[in-house]
Amino acid sequence: MNDADPRTPEVREAPKSAPRETLTGDRTCTNCLHPLFGRTIEREQSTGLLYVRCGECGMATALMEYPSATPWLNRMKTVVASGLVATALAIVILLAGASGGFATGAAMSASTASADSVYRAFAEAHPLHDDPNAQGSWNAADRAWLESDAGQAALASSRWSLEALLPFVTFVFLGGLIVFPFALFLGLAALRRPLLQRALVGMTPVLTGCLLITGPSPLFAMSGRIATNWQDAAVDANYAHFAILGTTVLCCLAALAALLAPSLTAAAFRAVLPPRDRRLVAWIWEWRGLPVPKNP
Ligand SMILES: [Zn+2]
Repeated sequence: MNDADPRTPEVREAPKSAPRETLTGDRTCTNCLHPLFGRTIEREQSTGLLYVRCGECGMATALMEYPSATPWLNRMKTVVASGLVATALAIVILLAGASGGFATGAAMSASTASADSVYRAFAEAHPLHDDPNAQGSWNAADRAWLESDAGQAALASSRWSLEALLPFVTFVFLGGLIVFPFALFLGLAALRRPLLQRALVGMTPVLTGCLLITGPSPLFAMSGRIATNWQDAAVDANYAHFAILGTTVLCCLAALAALLAPSLTAAAFRAVLPPRDRRLVAWIWEWRGLPVPKNP
């Protein structure tokens, strides 16, 4: 018996017939990112290199290779993109809420404050109206006088009185401080959109917030109101005026911020970054078809 050589042909051929190894690690196809887990490891005959064939697209992915960052870069892009979407969504909601809140505050405080001016006009027209319990605009309003030409004129001019404009400007200014940077971010996110679309991207959340919050707000504030004093009368007559004015100012501000976002951001990068480092944010110029500025 020829038993000297234990490596009979059957033994030598054994690895080929044995169940072949499958991939166990967390690897993805370099072409389509499909997971390669469980795929059969194959050997390329001429070079002996190991590879796995993708079950999805058929691309062979080498197992002995220099680490390839491509799938991870693609994955990172997805993470960053979805992060941006989440941030943009949060900013849209914040922008709408802040706009509605500040426009409501502006309209409510300004229309309430405008009552002082209306009451002053009434007291001047009625010098004999000498109520010992007079509390100014808290007094019961004279509805008949308010509906007269003199009363309507007093209401109209009260909208531009200093005591009404002061709280109005304060609220709109504070609202603008929040609206401007948020709309700027949205304008930057819509960098590659045409001008009109970019303005709409900044303006729409503001308009929506004002329509949802500032519009219905007086309905809640006025429900269950009993005494119709000068303040209530002034709010009834002037709320809508200040609400529309405040909404318009905030909408214009948001549209302006979104429109100017790319130029403002480019100017800021230009001021902060030396020419050599501007390639890091080159997209802000390149996406607008402009050359990256070389001079400081
Ligand atoms: Zn693939």
